[in-house]
Amino acid sequence: LIELDRAHLVHPFSCYRSHEEAGVRVLKSAKGARVTDASGKTLLDGFAGLWCVNIGYGQESVVEAAAKQLRELPYATGYFGLGSEPAIRLAARLAELAPGDLNHVYFTLGGSDAVDSTIRFIRYYYHAKGTPQKDQFISVEYGYHGSSTAGSGLTAIPAFHAGFGVPYDWQHKIPSHYAYRNPVGSDPQTIIDASVAALRAKIAELGADRVAAFYAEPIQGSGGVLVPPTGWLKALHAVCKEHDILFVADEVITAFGRTGPLFACEEDDVVPDFITTAKGLTSGYVPMGAVFMSDHVYNTIADGAGKAPVGHGYTYSAHPVSAAVGLECLRLYEEGLLENGRKAGKRLMEGLRSLADHPLVGDIRGRGMLAAVELVTDKERKTPLPAAADPGRRIFDRAWANGLIIRAFNSGILGYAPPLCCTKDDIDGILERTRMTLDQTLEDK
Ligand code: PMP
Repeated sequence: LIELDRAHLVHPFSCYRSHEEAGVRVLKSAKGARVTDASGKTLLDGFAGLWCVNIGYGQESVVEAAAKQLRELPYATGYFGLGSEPAIRLAARLAELAPGDLNHVYFTLGGSDAVDSTIRFIRYYYHAKGTPQKDQFISVEYGYHGSSTAGSGLTAIPAFHAGFGVPYDWQHKIPSHYAYRNPVGSDPQTIIDASVAALRAKIAELGADRVAAFYAEPIQGSGGVLVPPTGWLKALHAVCKEHDILFVADEVITAFGRTGPLFACEEDDVVPDFITTAKGLTSGYVPMGAVFMSDHVYNTIADGAGKAPVGHGYTYSAHPVSAAVGLECLRLYEEGLLENGRKAGKRLMEGLRSLADHPLVGDIRGRGMLAAVELVTDKERKTPLPAAADPGRRIFDRAWANGLIIRAFNSGILGYAPPLCCTKDDIDGILERTRMTLDQTLEDK
């Protein structure tokens, strides 16, 4: 398998030659929060795949729902006014559960095309309103908004742009709220004020009549699990409202219980114009994403569609098997998984916070089952681990040897997003194996 992989399978986000030298680790099976590789080694998955297997592995009722739908009707297009029962029921249930008037759902295959769809819907919306000159988009440094051609430009992590020539000239950034390393300091209100001022300045620079939309994650995931101060999202939402700029909350990671509630926006008391979701919607069992849009946005687009049809769609939009899985995942969330995730998240956060005295630990942050530990070589100076020593790879390998899968960013940040089904033992195992990994990393510092 390793030889075949080397010869033929192109992996995402890899330095291909070094990846090929290291060789692929083949996963074979999984149950609950544990995965087993081809050699028979069992590991705790502290990252739920790629922050997506929120319900945990091996949930039989989901497998049955998928199998039933595959037998009954494996495919139905949403084109030509056709549809399927699970897709309609899932859209209706999601609209019921979403905050405010986000009553209209557009299904995609994942998060990148959900973000990309919002860009197209927003462009269409302004055309329908007769203000097509509103064509500039703003996002936040360290934000991640996918790998599609347009959406990747809203991603504001330089590593994802190198060699591609994005972002485009209609995509702009404001500085992140990153409290641990913010030039304005770590005081929450100062950080909020600085972000508000930066957004206002960017709008003034571009002209409010040119700015279409602002994108933000309630918690920045791929940028290093950066948790904004309470009130940050609400303050920036207010600035957008003031200037008639659409607000997109990218909840691809944070929705479906990852931070506690079904949508993280609920905790921030914000009703955006759009929410993008994916991952926990179908928990990685099958691919699916969903764009939520408000009554106002939908009605404007629908009115405009009389003049020019909304020429946007995917062959696999509203896939019936994905929808059947999504419905069953929602049932599991509501029947205990959200609650279990909240309890497990509390244990995880408390456990991680108990690592504060460890000589390598500079910062601990998170909400619910989404957390990070930032490692430094000097706490006082907040000196990052030396990049030349490839800390991400080394920590990942060490954690793996200890029977733990985590996200190990090359900046020396450890990311956690365990399945919501984790038991106390699972969480304690994640914590114990983290401590072992930190001690070993300290030894060879
Ligand atoms: N937005 C955010 C906030 C994400 O975290 C991700 C994926 N990590 C995406 C968009 C893209 O989703 P996908 O990988 O499913 O295309």
